[in-house]
Amino acid sequence: MPLPQTEMPGRLQAHFADRGIRMTEQRRAILRVMETATKHLDAAQLLRKAQKLDASVDRSTVYRTLRLLKRQGLIDELDLMHIHGEGHYYERKLNRDHIHMACLRCGKIMEFVSDIFEKLKGQVEKDCRFRIVVSRLEIGGYCAACRGAK
Ligand SMILES: [Zn+2]
Ligand SMILES: [Zn+2]
Repeated sequence: MPLPQTEMPGRLQAHFADRGIRMTEQRRAILRVMETATKHLDAAQLLRKAQKLDASVDRSTVYRTLRLLKRQGLIDELDLMHIHGEGHYYERKLNRDHIHMACLRCGKIMEFVSDIFEKLKGQVEKDCRFRIVVSRLEIGGYCAACRGAK
């Protein structure tokens, strides 16, 4: 499933440059994979793809870079209802949050952008006097194809 919004290649790399974060060839390979990902990747998938760009990337570099990206608020970490086990998935942070729907039967992940979710966040901020930095909505259920097959 393609992500609802794409972004300019190089944006994560540009962020690193703006914030004075050291760029290495390994980091560049990992960022490039994140920037061009068309689906949610877990750390193992990220490692495999990054190694195709730079064979010297290893597991610990991937985890360190993911921690750094999370600290910088550049990526989101998802568990996608744990339909594929305990893995965590990463995606670059986009301008608007999207809702993730996970099919508990076929494992398909769907994304949905809704103004109502934006309104809900606005209401939480106003009514609870709470400044939202990160928000996530993950829903588990059955997709149309799986509902039909039941
Ligand atoms: Zn399904
Ligand atoms: Zn997503």
